[in-house]
Amino acid sequence: MNSISIIGTGYVGLVTGTCLSEFGMRVICMDLEASKIHALERGEVPIYEPGLARLIAKNLEAGRLRFSADIAETVSESNMIFIAVGTPPGEDGSVDLNHVLSAAKSIAAHMNDYKAIITKSTVPVGTGRRIKQLIRGALDNRGLTGLDFDIVSNPEFLREGSAVRDFMHPDRVVIGSENERSANLMRDIYSVLYLIDTPFIFTTLETAELIKYATNAYLATKITFINEIANLCDAAGADVHVIAKAMGLDGRISKYFLHPGPGYGGSCLPKDTLGLVKIGQDCGVDMRITRATIEANEFQKAHMIDKIEGGLGDPRGKTIGILGLAFKAETDDMRAAPSIPIVLGLIAKGCRLRAYDPAAMKNAKEGPFATVSGPGTLTYCADEYDAAKGTDAIVILTEWNQFRHLDLPRLLGLMAGRHFFDLRNIYEPKDLTVLGFVHTGVGR
Ligand code: NAD
Repeated sequence: MNSISIIGTGYVGLVTGTCLSEFGMRVICMDLEASKIHALERGEVPIYEPGLARLIAKNLEAGRLRFSADIAETVSESNMIFIAVGTPPGEDGSVDLNHVLSAAKSIAAHMNDYKAIITKSTVPVGTGRRIKQLIRGALDNRGLTGLDFDIVSNPEFLREGSAVRDFMHPDRVVIGSENERSANLMRDIYSVLYLIDTPFIFTTLETAELIKYATNAYLATKITFINEIANLCDAAGADVHVIAKAMGLDGRISKYFLHPGPGYGGSCLPKDTLGLVKIGQDCGVDMRITRATIEANEFQKAHMIDKIEGGLGDPRGKTIGILGLAFKAETDDMRAAPSIPIVLGLIAKGCRLRAYDPAAMKNAKEGPFATVSGPGTLTYCADEYDAAKGTDAIVILTEWNQFRHLDLPRLLGLMAGRHFFDLRNIYEPKDLTVLGFVHTGVGR
């Protein structure tokens, strides 16, 4: 039976390892951060991801899932090793491969028998070959010239907030490999997905690596396109939701990723669009559409501040209730959240903010807003109603379900003003205006 290990126990690594153990595999999730590993061993889950804690507990109990901070033990006890470490953007937008290459070096330093080494991390085209050369060189230096291994690319498409469901029921599984042996190993560990007729794409390393960037850049472009149409609707007096619905009913377009908002964020789309532009440059190809998407998305985030200023007037000294900080609902992830430039921009304009997020306040406090918190600038509140107290305006920045069914009369009663900036379009404008709110949405 295959024995699997995952190097890097973050959002992707932890979900991948847990779900593969749920598929019946024996899995070790390894991470350099020993404190994270010890917390997981105690049953504490370091990220907010619906359904994950229950699966971890179940598979720990069944003895299929283990956690380790020991790379030597992890490598020696597995024949299939996933690399799921972070690939953050470098200064110039290029993909920082340091974690990936360092994981590959650790594997090479400890392997003594055949391994399939599988990249789950999102990596630029050519990285699989680079890892192969690096490991081959390290093994040769160790005198293990005959030791065989395979490199596989298996990019991940899960979305934070629905990661477990996405992993268990993917639209497709992409496997880039160099030979039948490693392709068969991958087929074997995903056999549960075969049974539910999940489409599998078997291809080369290079094609698999590029599929991930092409997908994310396309999704970012689709979001950005509807945001631009929303801005046009604001100017022209049209309703972007009706337009999006009509567009989405066209089978060539599909209804997904046509919801306007404050711009895309998160740990993937911003860095992967920048990454694709850089990959293009390295290959001598100007990725014009992706460059335009990045520029339009930066504009969209800044435009949200203009929108608030336009509705509220001079924002100096105004108090604003911010509902939602995470880059999307059902996650605690603050990486590249649109809330970051919007919150910092409003503070820079002299606003006092009262913020509440159901899951991301700890990450917000310790991360992007570490230097701006305080009663005169940014106050963290107990809930959405606490955040509304004495405010001139409410701004919805994340589409959490609990914000979709607010007790609106109560909210209005707590506020000093009446402005409601629904930057996720989760309310019907008339449902707010009938109560006396001054509504501003995106494109309606
Ligand atoms: P993350 O930052 O949440 O987790 C990465 C983990 O790797 C951290 O816990 C870190 O301590 C660990 N790590 C770093 N170097 C290590 C090493 N040498 N050995 C062992 N552990 C090491 O990152 P993430 O969000 O899970 O993303 C991982 C990869 O998956 C990225 O390439 C990302 O682009 C891709 N991806 C992410 C998502 C997502 O929604 N987060 C979706 C699809 C793909």
